Amino acid sequence: MDLIALPGEMRAVSRRARAGGRRVGFVPTMGYLHDGHLSLVRRARELTDFVVVSIFVNPTQFGPGEDLDRYPRDLDRDRDLCRAAGVDALFVPEPAAIYPDGADTFVVPGAVAGPLCGASRPGHFRGVATVVTQLFHIVEPDVAVFGQKDYQQLQVIRRMVRDLHLAVEIVGEPTVREPDGLALSSRNAYLSPEERDRALALSRALDEASARVAAGEDRAAEVARRARRLLEEAGVQVDYAEVRHPDTLEPVDRVAPRAVLALAGFVGSTRLIDNRVLVAPDAGGQRENTR
Ligand code: AMP
Repeated sequence: MDLIALPGEMRAVSRRARAGGRRVGFVPTMGYLHDGHLSLVRRARELTDFVVVSIFVNPTQFGPGEDLDRYPRDLDRDRDLCRAAGVDALFVPEPAAIYPDGADTFVVPGAVAGPLCGASRPGHFRGVATVVTQLFHIVEPDVAVFGQKDYQQLQVIRRMVRDLHLAVEIVGEPTVREPDGLALSSRNAYLSPEERDRALALSRALDEASARVAAGEDRAAEVARRARRLLEEAGVQVDYAEVRHPDTLEPVDRVAPRAVLALAGFVGSTRLIDNRVLVAPDAGGQRENTR
């Protein structure tokens, strides 16, 4: 496995793979890898012949007072995990290599980046869209794999790729969870044992909402209200609990045929997100997420 720090070298390695007839798959991450990340790597390996993983804790997607400085890092472990997972190239640039001195050009996503995390974290999706565009231009992948765990991010990237005619196929993968339901996240490392217990309320709220919708509940506001109450009762400080259109993330009145329940909340000082696509019973039954 190649360990690469410089964008020019990364591009050359990637172009060499493509020149040799291989399709390039790409999994962008912020590191501190877990099984969720590795499921994306597995998918990229199924779909392509040369898999690039990037590890870059992107400063422009963090707001003032957020956890940029304390975001967990362990490059040695990440490198071992990538090697064992069959990654071909690991791209780990320094911030200065991605953002040249005085860089002030950004990719600004539109309406899909407005609500939910876009409202709570101003500038977050501008930072995401910018760095993903930069990474796409450096790696030049045929396919890029993202997790549905960051549901809004996936929609922002899908829309950006469509609107800007970027020559990459976007694949979304289902959320990987602990056996008790907690969605894997690098930020789970911040949780004390007691906080981790409280954090289970997110997946429980999703399960409860799925069950309600399966039993015929179709009122979006009611599904959202119950999810919020379940979180509050568990001691999660709710940022949002919303039922939205699964593609545009606009408000909806009805769940049918399908809608996404998106949750964000603080457990102590740790901000966690989770989501599930709810499918009305007459639209083909329940599913964890859409592909
Ligand atoms: P991050 O390192 O948090 O920026 O995440 C990198 C990629 O991994 C993103 O596409 C995430 O959506 C994805 N990801 C994070 N957690 C999970 C999970 N539990 N299951 C599946 N994918 C995930």
